[in-house]
Amino acid sequence: MSVRHVLILGGTTEARRLAEQLDAAPSLRVTSSLAGRVAEPRLPAGQVRIGGFGGPSGLAAWLREQRVDALIDATHPFAGTISRNAAEAAAEVHVPLLALRRPSWVPVPGDRWHPVDSLAEAADALPGLGRRVFLTTGRQGLAAFTHLTDHFFLARSVDAPEAPMPPRTEVLLDRGPFTLDGERAVCREYRIDVLVTKDSGGAATAPKLKAARELGIPVVIVRRPELPRGVQAAPDVPGALAWLADLPS
Ligand code: NAP
Repeated sequence: MSVRHVLILGGTTEARRLAEQLDAAPSLRVTSSLAGRVAEPRLPAGQVRIGGFGGPSGLAAWLREQRVDALIDATHPFAGTISRNAAEAAAEVHVPLLALRRPSWVPVPGDRWHPVDSLAEAADALPGLGRRVFLTTGRQGLAAFTHLTDHFFLARSVDAPEAPMPPRTEVLLDRGPFTLDGERAVCREYRIDVLVTKDSGGAATAPKLKAARELGIPVVIVRRPELPRGVQAAPDVPGALAWLADLPS
C-alpha cells in the first residue's frame, strides 16, 4: 500500500483536528505547516514545519520536493495571502487542493451588525457607534485605529500587539475558546459599548456575539476575503476527510 503525503496549511482549530484524524490513518503521512506567528503554538499531531515557504514558488517547490499528494488549506479565513499562494502553487505542480473553511457567522434577530470590508472601514464606522471598543481582530492591524484618540480600546490577542496602537489601549492577552459568561463579564467590566470583530466563524470565539446581542452592543464585523477562484471548499473536518477519500489513488 502506498502512503500518501498530505500537507495541511494550519494555524486553526480545524487544522489541528484534521491533522489528528489523518495522523491516525496508516495509509497517510501528514505534515502541518504553521506560519510561526504565535510564540507558543498549539502543535498538531504528526509532522510539523514552521515558517513561510517563500511565496507561491517556494510552496510549489516544497510540494514537489516533499512529494505531496494532496494540499489542504485549513488556514484562518482572513489569511488571504497564503490561500492565494496555495491556489497558485497547487495549480503549478498539479496537486489537488481543498480549502477547509468554517462557515461565516450569520446574524440572528437582536443583532446590531455593521458589516465592513476592512479594518480601515471599521475604524471609520466607530465614531457613530460607541467610544469604548472591544477590539478582537488580532494583534496585527491596531494601526488602523491609531487616529481615534478619544476612543478607549480593549485589544484582545494571543500575543502582545505591536505598535503603533491607539493611545488609549489596554491589552488583554487571552486565547479562545471563550465562554458566554466570560464575554459578558469582559463587556461589563470595561463598559464596552461597541465590538469590532472579523467574521472568523466557528464556535470558539462566537460567544462574544451573543454577549453583544444580550447587552445591546453594536458589532462592527469585517467581511472575509474571497477564496481564490476555482478552489473547492469544505466547511468542516468530515467534509475534508470525504474529499480526501474521493481522490483518485
Ligand atoms: P497571510 O497574510 O495569509 O500570510 C502571510 C505569509 O505568511 C504567507 O505569504 C506565508 O509566507 C506565511 N504563512 C501564512 N500561513 C502559513 C502557514 N500555515 N504555513 C507557512 N507559512 C504561512 O497569513 P496571516 O493572516 O498572517 O496568518 C498567519 C497564520 O496565522 C495563518 O496560518 C493562519 O491560519 C493563522 N491565523 C491567522 C488569523 C488571522 O486573523 N489572519 C487568525 C488566527 C490564525 P510565505 O509567502 O513566505 O510562504
